[in-house]
Amino acid sequence: QLFLDRIKQHDSGINSFITLTEELALAQAKTADDARAAGNAGPLTGIPIAHKDIFCTQGIKTSCASKMLDNFIAPYNATVVEKLNSSGTVTLGKTNMDEFAMGSSNETSFYGSVKNPWNTEYVPGGSSGGSAAAVAARLTPAATGTDTGGSIRQPASLCGITGLKPTYGRISRWGMIAFASSLDQAGPMTQTAEDAALLLNSMAGFDPKDSTSTDKTVPDFTADLGNSLEGLRIGLPKQYFDSGLNADVENVVQDAIKQYEKMGARIIEIELPNTHLSIPAYYVVAPAEASSNLSRFDGVRFGYRCDDPADLEDLYKRSRGEGFGEEVKRRIMIGTYALSAGYYDAYYLKAQKVRRLIKNEFDRAFADVDVIMGPTSPNAGFKLGEKASDPLSMYLSDIYTISVNMAGLPGISIPAGISSGLPVGLQIIGNYFDEAKLLNVAHRFQ
Ligand code: GLN
Repeated sequence: QLFLDRIKQHDSGINSFITLTEELALAQAKTADDARAAGNAGPLTGIPIAHKDIFCTQGIKTSCASKMLDNFIAPYNATVVEKLNSSGTVTLGKTNMDEFAMGSSNETSFYGSVKNPWNTEYVPGGSSGGSAAAVAARLTPAATGTDTGGSIRQPASLCGITGLKPTYGRISRWGMIAFASSLDQAGPMTQTAEDAALLLNSMAGFDPKDSTSTDKTVPDFTADLGNSLEGLRIGLPKQYFDSGLNADVENVVQDAIKQYEKMGARIIEIELPNTHLSIPAYYVVAPAEASSNLSRFDGVRFGYRCDDPADLEDLYKRSRGEGFGEEVKRRIMIGTYALSAGYYDAYYLKAQKVRRLIKNEFDRAFADVDVIMGPTSPNAGFKLGEKASDPLSMYLSDIYTISVNMAGLPGISIPAGISSGLPVGLQIIGNYFDEAKLLNVAHRFQ
């Protein structure tokens, strides 16, 4: 009730929620109370949570912040939602996001942009901007997000919270509306690394309904949180401290790294020379997969349907033309072009080869270091409207996060300090399935 009241009181100025699920929340809270009274409470019993509106929630509107799905009530729960429900969490509602998770500022939402609670003239980041803003404004203690090219870590950085993108395959994608299937991964967005570990314990694990989820055993991610960092080898990629990085952000990040040196960590300079290719390769691979995934929204089976279609072709054209926003259409056009006969080899295949090079150079780096550190985002933030009409400058703001998705690695952004009144995130990247170490390293900073 406390959090529902806070949302009602404060969210009109932030716009972080698309749907409030008050009735469900109170019913789940009652069940949690009963579990506690019966001595059956786990660590997440009764903990309020908000779900990004990309996760299907049974009987509840699941819009992906698109006009296309404004009328869509999901008939089932995403595996992530199902798992968190069974751990006893209490669903407060569904959070705002960039339309179909395409964006870095939350300005592409059909429901209007989200404001950064630190300064409402600034964007909260995206695409999981509603989840990040809601946690930052203490409207919920935790939220779920998804990260295809930085959508958990970048808004976490801009809103001063903790956001973890686990290894690709660690968490089931079933019921998570697909953007780019080979890159999409769900993760927790919380105040602290310890909270992220508790949520990951519930969210992770093999799911027969997702063929890309892995059957690796899920450790207790809280078990390593007390480990010493003596001797930890931290790689600093030269390419993450280039001329594109804002000087104040660099200072905050360097100060944070010095803290780790004081804790006994050793700094090793490394090279990730293909970093500059990650954005161009991503903007072939992600739109290509998106153009295929979004072909299901055809006005026939679910979602938006245009008025009075003249024939089937008109139904497709106008339903998609009217239902999708500008950025989504841009991605569908790019992706369809890149996949078309004659261009496939030149673009999609080439981008996949670049992707392999990026993965290989991370593999080489992790032969010498335990974690990689750097900024999450080149700037502490930007104003609403500042980049909205310039997609290329928006795309470039993901320079430090996208290669992690291209390689399928886990990465976390934690609050490292403040620059001109706005929070700055430190990004820590781990080796495959090394989330426990990543969370320990993140936890020790706080
Ligand atoms: N900003 C990137 C994009 O627009 C990443 C989004 C995401 O991770 N979902 O595609």
